[in-house]
Amino acid sequence: MEKIVILTGAGISAESGLGTFRDEGGLWAQHAIEDVATPEGFARNPQLVHGFYNARRAQAADATPNPAHDALARLEAEHKGEVLLITQNVDGLHEKAGSRHVLHMHGELAGALCQACGDRWEAPLVMSPDDPCPSCGTAATRPDVVWFGEFPYHPDKTEEALAEADLFAAIGTSGQVYPAAAFGQMAREMGAHTVELNLEPSAASQDFHECRLGKASLIVPTWVDEILSMSSGG
Ligand code: NAD
Repeated sequence: MEKIVILTGAGISAESGLGTFRDEGGLWAQHAIEDVATPEGFARNPQLVHGFYNARRAQAADATPNPAHDALARLEAEHKGEVLLITQNVDGLHEKAGSRHVLHMHGELAGALCQACGDRWEAPLVMSPDDPCPSCGTAATRPDVVWFGEFPYHPDKTEEALAEADLFAAIGTSGQVYPAAAFGQMAREMGAHTVELNLEPSAASQDFHECRLGKASLIVPTWVDEILSMSSGG
């Protein structure tokens, strides 16, 4: 049965009220990426970085999944083959919608990580640089998210999934952040049919057999309906 692998990015959560990288006036627009999303920025000003992620965590806690997240959860529940989501998002909305098979390649706002001993635990809503690690006691707590210059999580499982995919889709991602931007090309070279679903053609559009443009809340449910009706022979 067909194995479906889906990469999601900030665009799928835009209609849940969570800004993408390039949204004007959003959280990201108010800060330089080097200040809030790099290890060097955290070393320079941990208070600022915790403040930024505390605000994002609060936003994400209040956010609800939109019809695109819901449709992907339905696909996982109803498709007879395997469905795996690989998400660049840290907001937890796929799980809130009911998806269970999710790889968080850029970590999660819901996680805390000790820079001293590597222990991980559930992040409180508000984190500060003075929080001691529950395991080693060091005040070296950071959000468990992957910053620019760091390696994404789950590289082996991701590579394996891309190699095995019969169908690969990228949803709401600009194709500018690597390595995710290369997944379409990798999956295609390994034999998958590739589909891009985005508001506009991404920087990686050439790697996709099909490109569907529009708002995720509209085009993703339609695409999922098509897949489910094909796999049920309808
Ligand atoms: P991006 O901001 O670079 O690109 C978002 C893409 O989504 C754009 O191509 C845009 O045209 C498209 N888009 C915007 N609104 C859309 C909609 N309603 N429907 C469909 N498509 C829409 O995001 P990226 O490629 O995911 O890379 C940004 C990085 O920032 C990632 O690493 C991600 O972890 C992080 N980020 C995460 C969140 C989140 O967790 N919700 C939010 C912002 C940024």
